[in-house]
Amino acid sequence: MSDFKSFKLLPSVLNEIQKKGYIKPTTIQAKSIPALMQGYDLLGIAQTGTGKTASFSLPIIDRLARVQNKLTAFQVRALILAPTRELATQIHKNICSYSKGSKVNSAIVIGGLRKENQIEELKDGMDIIVATPGRLMDLMSGGHIRFDELEVFVLDEADMMLDFGFLEDVKTISARLPEDRQTIFFSATMPRQIEELAKKLLIEPVKVQSAPQSTTIEKIDQLVYFVEENDKMLLLLSLLEDESIERVLIFCKAKYGVLNVVEALEQNGISHGEIHSNRTQTQRDQAIADFSAGEIRVLVATDIAARGIDILDISHVINFNLPDDATCYVHRIGRTARAGKDGVAISLCGERDLALLRNVQKKIKKVIPTVLDHPFHKEFPPLKVKKKKVGSSASFRERKRPSQAKKRAKKKFLENL
Ligand code: AMP
Repeated sequence: MSDFKSFKLLPSVLNEIQKKGYIKPTTIQAKSIPALMQGYDLLGIAQTGTGKTASFSLPIIDRLARVQNKLTAFQVRALILAPTRELATQIHKNICSYSKGSKVNSAIVIGGLRKENQIEELKDGMDIIVATPGRLMDLMSGGHIRFDELEVFVLDEADMMLDFGFLEDVKTISARLPEDRQTIFFSATMPRQIEELAKKLLIEPVKVQSAPQSTTIEKIDQLVYFVEENDKMLLLLSLLEDESIERVLIFCKAKYGVLNVVEALEQNGISHGEIHSNRTQTQRDQAIADFSAGEIRVLVATDIAARGIDILDISHVINFNLPDDATCYVHRIGRTARAGKDGVAISLCGERDLALLRNVQKKIKKVIPTVLDHPFHKEFPPLKVKKKKVGSSASFRERKRPSQAKKRAKKKFLENL
């Protein structure tokens, strides 16, 4: 399958794809769309940036446009569940543009927006809703969402649901859905709990996988700067003097980290936006829109707020701190080098980051080249490998049960005492 026409999507849907300028389906689309058009469940292992949103949205819009059900109050036909408001907003935007030529309507159900407006929007029923778990559960408990006519359920970024502690909510929500439905499950990684969840939610799914993430990472020029924690800000500002850093996403571990960086950028007249939990949804959306439009050069973010955002032309990602989780590093740097372009990922590594850097390098199976030629370079002593404590809980768990021979020997020994 090498072109969209072969999927036999409705002309109205095909037309919108053409308007968006998509010429060829991405790998994940070529594998998913035919299976979904036939009504199969789908298990997709793919990251943002692979075209996965269109891979599930197009068949859903096609399906709903073909048979126009009359809905009563608060009924929905397709539910797309995403872990963050940003991701939900992005999915909803895509759906709005793909469904322009059809009568399929959609709404967003996320926190940070007025609940009353969302309820009003749903009062005559809605074909598609894109939701985050918290607000969805809130509306469900008030009787403002009904799933008795639900045909399709999409769980997007399932592994992030786990990381953000939404797994129980996802289970509660899926337990309320009709058994007879099509289920689409996307996750970037497959930890055990997510695999178990997929087994429960899907019936004989078609399995699809995008090219392994490493091929994307190969296009990213990764660099590490060793620096004292106190010098990180000065190093960051000196890096930003380089005008080839056109559009940069800076990651900090927590919101106070973002606030410190933002203050320094402000003092130095560098145009910037910020996304973290202290900002309202409108402020976050505005920052992402300004950054996408190139009106600001720097976007400073926490992992949670930035997860899943898809902005083309990010030339650089800077990790002000390394993340606690090595998978998160891969997600962060994957914000650059999108759509076949190159990108640079710079990590500022203080003494506290050393162990995290070691985990990252293990994960990506590569030693990240160090930049030595900068005024803040700091040599750190090599990391000490911790020895296991005798009798620690880890060694206790690892003890094997004694063999029968050993038990007999012990009994004999005790008898001889
Ligand atoms: P996603 O992985 O769904 O976040 O999509 C990543 C980006 O790829 C989005 O900006 C989409 O608009 C774009 N995209 C999706 N499918 C295609 C395609 N077949 N050709 C070109 N761009 C696409």
